[in-house]
Amino acid sequence: MQQQGTTRTRVGPYELGKTLGEGSFAKVKFANNVVTGDSVAIKIIDRHRVLRHKMVEQIKREISTMKLIKHPNVLRLIEVMASKTKIYIVLEYVDGGELFDRIAKYGRLKEDEARRYFQQLINAVDYCHSRGVYHRDLKPENLLLDSFGTLKVSDFGLSAFSQQVQEDGLLHTACGTPNYVAPEVLTDKGYDGTSSDIWSCGIILFVLMAGYLPFNDQNLMALYRKIQKAEFSFPTWFSSSSRKLIKSILDPNPLSRITIPEILENDWFKRGYEPPKFEQEEGVNLDDIDAVFNDSEEHLVTERKEKPVSMNAFELISRSQSFNLENLFEKQMGFVKRETRFTSKCPANEIISKIEETAKPLGFNVQKKNYKMKLQGDKTGRKGHLSVATEVFEVAPSLHMVELRKMGGDTLEFHKFYKSFSSGLKDIVWTKEQQAE
Ligand code: AMP
Repeated sequence: MQQQGTTRTRVGPYELGKTLGEGSFAKVKFANNVVTGDSVAIKIIDRHRVLRHKMVEQIKREISTMKLIKHPNVLRLIEVMASKTKIYIVLEYVDGGELFDRIAKYGRLKEDEARRYFQQLINAVDYCHSRGVYHRDLKPENLLLDSFGTLKVSDFGLSAFSQQVQEDGLLHTACGTPNYVAPEVLTDKGYDGTSSDIWSCGIILFVLMAGYLPFNDQNLMALYRKIQKAEFSFPTWFSSSSRKLIKSILDPNPLSRITIPEILENDWFKRGYEPPKFEQEEGVNLDDIDAVFNDSEEHLVTERKEKPVSMNAFELISRSQSFNLENLFEKQMGFVKRETRFTSKCPANEIISKIEETAKPLGFNVQKKNYKMKLQGDKTGRKGHLSVATEVFEVAPSLHMVELRKMGGDTLEFHKFYKSFSSGLKDIVWTKEQQAE
């Protein structure tokens, strides 16, 4: 059990913190630059997997380009570091959560609001395309918000890590769930990143306004067929001009699909449009990227564990914002967050068994390691398995703090799970009311 303190891990100037998410090729951790005090997010990737990859040159080119890009709607890439076994991609940290957390919690967006996000998305995509960087994996999890509610597209130029280029020079992808993927990508005939990114933007716009996906089917083959024929219908509340635009984006033929210059001229799109204002980074040094991708050992960093820093009961308690399980997706300064803490007066082993007892009937496998647990959904969802990390801290002999964090999986599915899970844990939570007694 973590008692009064936790071990800290340092990589270069960054002190690693909690895990923010786990994607198919990387783990994302929160970190703090101890020199500047800046918060960052670090993507940690297995180095050998990347360096064996056929696409090293492309990855290197795209990462270098991303380091030069400073666009308000593109998540900034700050630097890249490598240890003997890992690559660390240091990114701007944003704390507004995923755009789709908001839809999961508050439902679909009004047309004007959806348009504002779509305009920002197209700005980001247009700019990166103009620099020769394609996304190839645009989906809700890559749409993050900063504390002002500005859209930040993540993973531009990084999705190449999970792609393969074949002999014809075109991209081929072996993606799991195809809801956001263009038909030409599914038929695996090779494709051009420009028009397939536009298709994914069309799906995203539809979901923002409808609150559900245009193409969906439990049966994967049936889903493929629907996508290939662009077989979908509009909800009644879509305006006729938005329908026209979406129809021209979700054109199964990439050659006749609308282009970004045409979208920028579209009447529905142009309403209230403000072109982005941004500066180009100057004097950016790309030595870090060269060092990572050549085999020199000169600039390697190491992960160092540092002595536990003690955290007293007061600090622990003040980290538990509100002792209310409902607050996982509670608005915090207008935005939703994805972790929560609660206190309990039950003994640690009782808390752990209760979590296990509650999670199992909901279809979760439970792995326990000391006072940490990982709950993993046994069904594969749209974004892989749902997974939740928990940890029990002792604050005082008869007082524990429990931390719960979403690690991976689809946001909409996660909200459903969390509702049942939190009501199952009610008995062990030491509530505000009890504390006041
Ligand atoms: P990804 O592997 O990019 O899908 O990242 C997994 C999750 O980590 C995302 O869905 C985000 O919730 C979170 N995340 C990724 N990058 C950042 C970032 N720069 N700032 C804050 N959260 C992030």
